[in-house]
Amino acid sequence: MPIRPVLTFPNSLLRKRAEPVKKIDNEIMNLIKDMKDTLTEASGVGLAANQVGVLKRVIVISNSPESDIIAYINPEITNRKGKRTVTEGCLSFPGYSGIVTRSISVSARYMDESGGRVKITADELLSQALEHEIDHLNGILFVDHLREHEKLSAVDPEYRPHNHDINVSIKVQNNQYESEFNKKLYTKIGIDDLKLALDRADILKDVEQAND
Ligand SMILES: [Zn+2]
Repeated sequence: MPIRPVLTFPNSLLRKRAEPVKKIDNEIMNLIKDMKDTLTEASGVGLAANQVGVLKRVIVISNSPESDIIAYINPEITNRKGKRTVTEGCLSFPGYSGIVTRSISVSARYMDESGGRVKITADELLSQALEHEIDHLNGILFVDHLREHEKLSAVDPEYRPHNHDINVSIKVQNNQYESEFNKKLYTKIGIDDLKLALDRADILKDVEQAND
């Protein structure tokens, strides 16, 4: 099982835009296989190629523990419906979570591993994961969607959603930060360091936008 190390924030590759896959060759198939193995080992919901240091438009999502991990090549969101508030984490921010606004459902198109063109409409966890992972391919991180009144917080086993989020179905796996994999590969950084790094990233993003 070739597991690839997951890059953590503020690695600059997480802020880069990934390139479309032109041909599903052995290199892409190996990447997909490794990403699936890495996601399984990390007990994560989804993983984008940027997170293993490859700037190709490939994501993998584990929609439920029972089903197979699906690879989405050159995925694009074609429609979004509604808004909901959910708790979210990311393998590139081990040990942290935040409250973000996501769509209730999304439509997307992508290429499957055999090159077939697929269109789907998804809700619940898959919708959230598609938005999160496709954001990664565009250099966007979940912390960019943090609600103003909610700061990034360390994952707390006592955490409960706020009252205004009570109607929201939250299915993010709770144990994704506890695997041996994370302990081995991630260097823990303090929340103050992380917030400082995030402030800097926001400034960099503003500068980049001003230069566009
Ligand atoms: Zn992520």
